Amino acid sequence: MAPKQYAFLPGRPTLWVGIFTVLAGILGCALLVAAAASDDARYAARREAMVRSQIATQGVTDPATLRAMAAVQRHRFVPPSYLSNAYDNRPLPIGYGQTISQPYIVAAMTESIRPRPEHRVLEIGTGSGYQAAILAEIVRNVYTIEIIPELGGTARERLRNLGYKNIEVRIADGYDGWPEQAPFDAIVVTAAAEYIPPPLLKQLKEGGRMIIPVGAPFFTQMLMLVEKKGGEITTRQLMPVMFVPFRRSP
Ligand code: SAH
Repeated sequence: MAPKQYAFLPGRPTLWVGIFTVLAGILGCALLVAAAASDDARYAARREAMVRSQIATQGVTDPATLRAMAAVQRHRFVPPSYLSNAYDNRPLPIGYGQTISQPYIVAAMTESIRPRPEHRVLEIGTGSGYQAAILAEIVRNVYTIEIIPELGGTARERLRNLGYKNIEVRIADGYDGWPEQAPFDAIVVTAAAEYIPPPLLKQLKEGGRMIIPVGAPFFTQMLMLVEKKGGEITTRQLMPVMFVPFRRSP
């Protein structure tokens, strides 16, 4: 018996089925890409609004800091259940009792160390990796230390997936700093310490700046700007803040 002919599909039907499948696949991919692009555009608009209403109008003026705050996709650093709050003017939980700081505080701390493209910066308290990403948009190298292994591991993977090649994450007690990479042009501490850890002071370069919340845990602390000049340490109080406690490894 002669093979059945399809009036509308000349030749081999399986070939046409294949072609349709490929075309449908391409169309599907195009739709996904378009959806992702419109998602990115929506978040970019929210970021612009965040910078305008929460940061620039609150006194942060450093152009590099404002650019970094507008560039880093904060929504990629918060848990999925807080996606819709990613650009709100508040800290958000990131698990293990820790938080990603309020955008304004991240910007104010970044600006306070006067970050420059040639700088190497140490951060204590990686958390989500957001502050590290903001710094990495501006400076040459960021070394960041996290004491909770799960948070450090997730942040390391997240930062790698986002393409940051100038951030190194270490899982350790940040009290001791990172002697192998010292001295640093600047140090950013994002957990509240009762006093400034001496190893961090030692690892700060001459002329360098450190920003650190100092005070009793679970109370309001003072954000302190520390400068090392001519071997002397000077400190200045910037503003009251509330950070999670600086812990020590057992
Ligand atoms: N910078 C973070 C926010 C950090 S919350 C961000 O952008 O998301 C403070 C972080 O400091 C927490 O993750 C906490 O686990 C960490 N931490 C507390 N004490 C520490 C220590 N001694 N060494 C390193 N990390 C510490």
